[in-house]
Amino acid sequence: MSNQSRFARLHTDRNRVRWTAETQHRAPHKPFLLLAVMDLISHGKVTTNFIPFTPELRDAFDLYWTRCFGPDRSRGNPVLPYFHLRSDGFWHLLPVPGQEAALAQLRQVSAIVQLKTIVLGVALDPAHYDLLSAASSRAELRRVLLESYFTPEARSRVVEAAQLVDDTLQYGQTLLGRVHERFALEAPTADQQYRAEARSVTFRRIVVEAYAHACALCGVRLLTPEGRTAVVAAHIVPWRVAHNDDPRNGLALCGLHHWTFDEGLVTVDRGFTVKVSPVVRDDDGSVALRQLAGGGMRLPTEPELAPAPEALAWHAEHVFRSRVTARLL
Ligand SMILES: [Zn+2]
Repeated sequence: MSNQSRFARLHTDRNRVRWTAETQHRAPHKPFLLLAVMDLISHGKVTTNFIPFTPELRDAFDLYWTRCFGPDRSRGNPVLPYFHLRSDGFWHLLPVPGQEAALAQLRQVSAIVQLKTIVLGVALDPAHYDLLSAASSRAELRRVLLESYFTPEARSRVVEAAQLVDDTLQYGQTLLGRVHERFALEAPTADQQYRAEARSVTFRRIVVEAYAHACALCGVRLLTPEGRTAVVAAHIVPWRVAHNDDPRNGLALCGLHHWTFDEGLVTVDRGFTVKVSPVVRDDDGSVALRQLAGGGMRLPTEPELAPAPEALAWHAEHVFRSRVTARLL
């Protein structure tokens, strides 16, 4: 079988109840994951035939899924095709050293943590990697996937998703490059060329990964088996003020601390010390919040992604409630 026809004949779940006519009554997980892999290769994020399960790969898959099926991601789990593509002959799972026997016995996996405990990554057949890394054959394989697994109407949504993925990968490159420059409170207007959805996906990915999914204030680090996380990527200088997705204008915060930070009940000074507003009282059940006062925030492991002192100073001056008075804004 030629390599192209392998792409047209992936082993997928065929079921007229579970999958609509738009995907030819077949599960679209494997085509989406292969499209995502091609996107990463075309942006230089994958440069050998080794394909690890990265946040960029997960986000690209999620964008294909949500653009085609809406925000319900419960069935759109990228771990499934990453594992089950092994039955298609060109996708070889490599074990974490010491987990060879566990991988040999593994019949299914759905949780990212479980996958990463046992699987180090994937080695693509070199011949397949060569096809994916050359722009012309990659375009041909993309066409094969679109025509084999999607109706014309669904195809146009997949193409839209591919444009969003392109934006996120390009924007991610831009934002990570920016941290080597002097921090500016206002974002360059060039950022407006990227689609809003792509910008928010990218900012979230970079900031949440920088803090390893832990809240910068309390350290809570909760993840569902699918990899959904308790923290969000908060803008220090709010988005409506500066439209600034510089990672140094971001903090990973849990739901409670995102709210208290945005409401000015808590801030972080230029020395990364947490301050709690006097608006927070002794009798409002907020002992855990008040205990943060005077402590240090948790910083990203990469020092260049740490919050910019200028952004923190702006927050302390314009958002933080340093006195017990109602804010006028
Ligand atoms: Zn927290």
